[in-house]
Amino acid sequence: MADVQYIQSLLTQHADFPKKGIVFLDIFPLLRDPFAFETLITHFMHHITADTIFKSPTKKIDIVVGLDARGFLFGPIIALRLGAAFVPVRKRGKLPGVCVQASYEKEYGTDVFEMQAGAIAPGQTVIVVDDLIATGGSASAAGELVTKQGGQLLEYLFIIELTFLKGTEKLNAQSYSIVQSDD
Ligand code: IMP
Repeated sequence: MADVQYIQSLLTQHADFPKKGIVFLDIFPLLRDPFAFETLITHFMHHITADTIFKSPTKKIDIVVGLDARGFLFGPIIALRLGAAFVPVRKRGKLPGVCVQASYEKEYGTDVFEMQAGAIAPGQTVIVVDDLIATGGSASAAGELVTKQGGQLLEYLFIIELTFLKGTEKLNAQSYSIVQSDD
């Protein structure tokens, strides 16, 4: 648990960012401290190796999917440690070639996420990572892209979960977060 407290202690809050009324939780101080960054990755690796869902040999993780943009910062590191592939999910129009799409609700209107077609082969096992889950809209759209390509979604990993928004209820697989915030 000391590692959770250490990680939590480095998260900073910013009132009225990116707009008035929003309290933004910033993970960048964590990444600026190499020991904390290593602690974060090791914590996720311990979780993956300890969790029964990953214990069966048939549950080797084939692919780590990272969400635009902060999921790109640590998703590839987890992928390398697992010997898995890394696949990005990006906002519409950022990825070349044929893409599959999923839309999700934002505060005002909808947004579209994309993944390159064929990035996941049917039956491959997948985890989805992002820095934070709020309403769960973006994570559930990423999960939809995984299942559209025939991937077997095992789990979502987050550094932070804003529990009061109940975003995990939108997800179609189990989830794990290191830090839970209820305000
Ligand atoms: P959701 O789709 O409402 O769950 O919002 C989650 C997405 O918004 C994630 O990709 C986060 O990176 C981003 N996000 C929302 N609030 C915060 C925050 O306080 N800190 C960092 N990222 C945030």
